[in-house]
Amino acid sequence: MTSSTWEGAQKRLARAAERLALNPLLLAELLHPDRTINVSVPVPMDDGHVELFEGYRVQHSNIRGPYKGGLRYHPRVDMDEVKALAFWMTMKTALVDVPFGGSKGGITVDPKKLSGEELERLTREFTRKLTPVIGPTMDIPAPDVNTNPKIMQWIREEYEREIKSQKLNVKSGNEEKMPKGWYDAVVTGKPVEKGGSEGRVEATGFGGGHVLLSFLSKLGKDPAGMTVAVQGFGNVGTHLAEVLAAAGMNVVALSDSKGGIYIPGGIEDIGAVEQCKAEKGIVSGCYCIGSVCDLHNKEKLGGQDVSPEKILTLPVDIIVPAALENVLTEENAPRVQAKFVLEMANGPTTLAADAVFAKRGITVIPDILANAGGVVVSYYEWLQNMRKERWEKEEVLAKLKKQMETAVESVWIHAQEYKVSLREAAYIAALERLRKSFRESRNIYHSEK
Ligand code: NAD
Repeated sequence: MTSSTWEGAQKRLARAAERLALNPLLLAELLHPDRTINVSVPVPMDDGHVELFEGYRVQHSNIRGPYKGGLRYHPRVDMDEVKALAFWMTMKTALVDVPFGGSKGGITVDPKKLSGEELERLTREFTRKLTPVIGPTMDIPAPDVNTNPKIMQWIREEYEREIKSQKLNVKSGNEEKMPKGWYDAVVTGKPVEKGGSEGRVEATGFGGGHVLLSFLSKLGKDPAGMTVAVQGFGNVGTHLAEVLAAAGMNVVALSDSKGGIYIPGGIEDIGAVEQCKAEKGIVSGCYCIGSVCDLHNKEKLGGQDVSPEKILTLPVDIIVPAALENVLTEENAPRVQAKFVLEMANGPTTLAADAVFAKRGITVIPDILANAGGVVVSYYEWLQNMRKERWEKEEVLAKLKKQMETAVESVWIHAQEYKVSLREAAYIAALERLRKSFRESRNIYHSEK
């Protein structure tokens, strides 16, 4: 029987906990989210009828700080998925050492079927339902699949409106006492002109680039000319492809949910493909020569169409799942030709696929490290809001690089020390940090080493 995403995550956690002989109380805390929240979100549609959507928020752990995690709008969103995603946030924030815990949320919806107005009404109503449980020192949402800075801005506005109308959590009843950037800090990933941080949009992709390049350097491999295929050409995949191309790597294939392009000689200009996708809505057919992108260029470029599934088994050096969970399975793992898997998506590799990769000597750079750049810069955004500061983009990106490289070093050292995979090393490093905070916050633990 195949296990669910959350069950798979729990098994990985239990395995790493065993190596560390983790205290059973802490393990129990981590195996069970602190709080799971279901909300009903009725929305008036443009034609006048009311549609009911289901929303979720899982607050997994706040051992190290306020809950923190994105919001996903997708037809496949359910409680099982959200629990796993929230747990990975707890591990990620611990691994990269930002003082947050882990949470995640979402709505079961295909946002592409909604008008802009319907999407806004859905988001505002969802925010009203979540207002009692979120806040700058409580739980701070951010973008994820199919959510973006505009949606984050609606959440920020609605949260302020709701708090002010209900006087929620303003204990004195005097909101003048709230620090100035308070309402901005309820959500990260906002537009820069509305209190967002410079560099947040690029952060996850750029962070993944730093992680990959650091590991290649440790392994004595020259990245120049290495071939890369990216599944998922959204926020994360786009910026990752850009940064890898800038580092001299050869990005040969890109796909979104509808299809993709494969040019064995290399995609010359990622920006042109991005522009083409923005105009057409799909990456399929975006064969670009200069700024002209169309299907007629396919032959000239020696290109081929590629499906989102097939992209993972192309003859390349590195594959990058940057879309959804469980895309690398027992079924396709034996056919993967790459030597490296850079997990930019959360949970793209099943337990069974992990075992196949280990046997075949394929290195998996795990999600909780590879895609942590987003939450790192989300933390910078939150800090800037709370302190009423504005940091320059260069400063943000330089800090991000340093923080990601520090995390890589930690994973590398743990992998050597425990003689385990990079994933297990990342879990162990994260659990050590959680254990330290847990001991400090629980009196019952003081007598223990
Ligand atoms: P996005 O909505 O911007 O892009 C998602 C991309 O995946 C789109 O191109 C979509 O077409 C594609 N896609 C969807 N289903 C697919 C399928 N079945 N096959 C192939 N492609 C498919 O989302 P994003 O923010 O880029 O997030 C992508 C992944 O990265 C998710 O797993 C998310 O949890 C993870 N992540 C995102 C961030 C962030 O800051 N946005 C941070 C950490 C992790």
